Amino acid sequence: MTNLTNMTMVEALKGLENKDFTSVEITQAHIDAMQSARHLNAYITETPEIALKQAAASDAKRAKGDVGLLEGIPVAIKDLFCTKGVQTTAGSHILEGFTPHYESSVTTNMFADGAVMLGKVNLDEFAMGSANTTSYYGNVINPWKRNNGDDADLAPGGSSGGSAAAVSARIAMAATGTDTGGSIRQPAAFCGITGIKPTYGRCSRWGIVAFSSSLDQAGAFARNVEDSALLLQSMAGFDPKDSTSADLPVPDFVAGLKGDIKGLKIGIPKEYRVDGMPKEIEDIWQKGIDWLKDAGAEIVDVSLPHTKYALPTYYIIAPAECSSNLARYDGVKFGLRVEGKDLTESYELTRASGFGDEVKRRIMIGTYALSSGYYDAYYIKAQKVRRLISNDFMEAYKKCDVLLTPTAPSAAFALGENEDDPIKMYLNDVFTVPASLAGLPGMSVPAGVDSLGLPLGLQIIGRPWDEENVLRVGHAIEKSANFKQMPQFIEKIAA
Ligand code: GLN
Repeated sequence: MTNLTNMTMVEALKGLENKDFTSVEITQAHIDAMQSARHLNAYITETPEIALKQAAASDAKRAKGDVGLLEGIPVAIKDLFCTKGVQTTAGSHILEGFTPHYESSVTTNMFADGAVMLGKVNLDEFAMGSANTTSYYGNVINPWKRNNGDDADLAPGGSSGGSAAAVSARIAMAATGTDTGGSIRQPAAFCGITGIKPTYGRCSRWGIVAFSSSLDQAGAFARNVEDSALLLQSMAGFDPKDSTSADLPVPDFVAGLKGDIKGLKIGIPKEYRVDGMPKEIEDIWQKGIDWLKDAGAEIVDVSLPHTKYALPTYYIIAPAECSSNLARYDGVKFGLRVEGKDLTESYELTRASGFGDEVKRRIMIGTYALSSGYYDAYYIKAQKVRRLISNDFMEAYKKCDVLLTPTAPSAAFALGENEDDPIKMYLNDVFTVPASLAGLPGMSVPAGVDSLGLPLGLQIIGRPWDEENVLRVGHAIEKSANFKQMPQFIEKIAA
């Protein structure tokens, strides 16, 4: 009998069409699997009743010949997307018990296409982090283990660690994520799956809890490129409720995969060869270059001279915007309220106990950068540098069609590592943040494993609105890499 949790979405859609199984059966198989993978702490809220109801409705819809893009496919939703009637925490204590009476535009699109929601997955608090260790609901554990027997629990990456772990552990066929500075691409790389962040404006931000509004963008996690294309297709589209959503048609991303990459120019930015980069990361990058060359692409060297300013720029702009966005959590409108002797003290007590350390750190950095004496020196300066970073990409795209880089400077690290020093943690985003600042589409594709058997990802960055070439190049890498490894505990279950 087919293993109902180990299929790709496209395989599952075929099976559903052929009546090999029903959506209720696949959904039940995932609900069962979720129970045996609880140790990963991937879900904050499981919604099995909703899932089974949606699955039954989807089966009925399909029987009438009404078949959406994701008809009957069980997925996980990052707990940053507001879901009507289902608690939405953003990984924070301050939103514990917050049950939206509205649905985010992205999840609305997915449900209209027949998706089934298994639950809300864990994340760094307000999506701030690179290891999923800042969540109030506890950290997520990466389903992968080192193969040297040390048994250390590894970080799944962040902030969408729950999404990546769930898809990798076969407790969701796919998942939504958001990426502000790398939160889809880096966890996808750490968990050996694919993750795409589209161009800023491709997916509506309406109903997604805001972290840094000029950077936040929703995207898709899946176990291969075709599934990522399909999920993104469903999520994307113009939304008049988000003034930054682009009024552009969404191309057929899946159909776009059919083209080859002959003659496509792949840029290799020299500034991404950072000091101290592990040899294994260098090697996988070189492999990616060779694969694309063999597939008929042309490799060109390019320069993105302002790359070294990207992290400091990001860590001014993102905290500045977060300090403003998070001002709304005052104990009156949402979630947690801690009573004080008067209104001011209630605000203070609510925010003091509702936010974790990382969120407080960023609010303090952000309010400082926006304060009257420092606004020009930090915030305005960062905005100017952001423009220079963006211009670098546009210059590079005169010579090439997409860029190829590693996704992260290391494989998954052990939980607890990098926790002593926030700057060390921020360095994880060195390859992902520049594309975020420029609003460009980026994707991570698993390309191989390191000497400890852990997955390594390659990142493809495209021109604005050119997700199609990003996906096509990702597809070419996928074919050559032939990455078939799975987390060891899944292999045991599947055996
Ligand atoms: N790791 C980065 C940060 O901590 C990016 C997070 C994200 O993309 N949401 O801000």
